[in-house]
Amino acid sequence: KRRIAVMTSGGDAPGMNGAVRAVVRMSIARGCESYAILEGYDGLVQGGDMIREMKWEDVRDWLSKGGTLIGTARCAEFRERPGRLKAAHNLILKGIDAIVICGGDGSLTGADTFRKEWPGLLDELVKTGVCKNEQVEPYRHLNIVGLVGSIDNDMSSTDATIGCYSSLTRICQAVDFIDATAFSHQRAFVIEVMGRHCGWLALMAGVSTGADFIYIPESPPGTDWQDQMCKVIGKHREMGKRKTIVIVAEGAHDTELNKISPSAVKDVLSIRLKLDTRVTTLGHVQRGGAACAYDRMLSTLQGVEAVDAVLTATPDTPSPIISIVENKISRKPLLEAVRLTQEVTDAIEAKDFDKAMGLRDNE
Ligand code: ADP
Repeated sequence: KRRIAVMTSGGDAPGMNGAVRAVVRMSIARGCESYAILEGYDGLVQGGDMIREMKWEDVRDWLSKGGTLIGTARCAEFRERPGRLKAAHNLILKGIDAIVICGGDGSLTGADTFRKEWPGLLDELVKTGVCKNEQVEPYRHLNIVGLVGSIDNDMSSTDATIGCYSSLTRICQAVDFIDATAFSHQRAFVIEVMGRHCGWLALMAGVSTGADFIYIPESPPGTDWQDQMCKVIGKHREMGKRKTIVIVAEGAHDTELNKISPSAVKDVLSIRLKLDTRVTTLGHVQRGGAACAYDRMLSTLQGVEAVDAVLTATPDTPSPIISIVENKISRKPLLEAVRLTQEVTDAIEAKDFDKAMGLRDNE
C-alpha cells in the first residue's frame, strides 16, 4: 500500500486540523496508508515515533479545532543538508515517498528543496552504507504537495490561505468589542494586527469594520502620514463620530520604510487631535479559536485535492500547491507561487509600491 504523510509547519493557522483530517481520510479512502509527521520538520528529522500511522478515527472532531493538533515547529536542522539527509532516512525507514505539507512559504520552499535533493540524498544513504540499494530503490521519486496554511493570506497564486478568514473574523469580533467602549468614552483606538509583509488582514479588517484609517506595507502613506491621518480623522470627528479606529499592520511603514508603530500613531492622535487614545495589540488572539466555516470548507476541499495530486503526479510534474482561484480549487506550481510571493516583498523593500500593489492585485 502507498503511504502518504501529512505535516503542519511554520506558524499555526485555524483550519490546519481540517486539512490534516481531509488528507488522512482521503488517503485511506483511496486505498493508501496515512501517516502524520508530528511537530513539523522537527518530527521529520527525529523520525521514530514522531512519524506515526493515522487511522480514520484518529481525526474525528478535528474540523472545528483551532491550531494544529499534530504540532508545528521551526526547525533549524532541516535548513541544512545533514538534517535533510536524516529526514530522508526516516522516510525510507517508514516507506513513505509522498508528503502533504500545510504551511507557509518558508515551509513549502524547504519542501521543494528536499524534493530536488531527494535522489542525491538516497544515493548518499546508499554510498555511506546507511541504507541498501534495494531498500531505497522503490522510493526514487518524492512527491510533495503544498497546502497553504497562514493567517496572513500572504501567498501568491491563491485567493485565500487556510486560516485567513478565521483570523479576519476574530479581528472583526475584537474590533466590535472595542467599538462599544470607544463609543462610550468617545475614545480613539489604535489596533495592531498581524501581517509583516502583507496588509491583507489590516485592509480587510478596515473594510469589514469601517475603520477610520489603516496602515499597510504595500501601499504606505508618505512621510507626512501624520497630516494625512489627522485630516481624515479630524473630518470624521467634525461629522459627529464619537469613536475612532485606526488599524495598523505589524509591518506598517511610510514610503521611506520608516516603521509606523501603534504608539507613534497614538501620540499623534493624542497630541494633535487631543483624542483620548489607547493602543490594543491583538497578538495571538488572531491565531486562536475554532476555524470559521470558510476555513473548514477550504481545508477539506484542498486536502482532498492534495491527495489526488499525490496519486496523479508523475516524476516530471513540478511540486504543486493547492490553491483557490475565483472559487475553484486548482493546482499551481509551488516554486512559481513562492517566487511571486517573494517578488512582492522585494518590491516593498525597493520602495516600488506600485509594483507591490500590482502584484497583489494579480494574485
Ligand atoms: P512559514 O512556513 O510559516 O513561512 P518558516 O519560514 O519559519 O515558516 O519555515 C518553517 C520551517 O520550514 C523552518 O523552520 C525550516 O525548518 C523550514 N524551512 C524554511 N525555509 C527553508 C529553506 N529555504 N530550506 C529548508 N528548510 C526551510
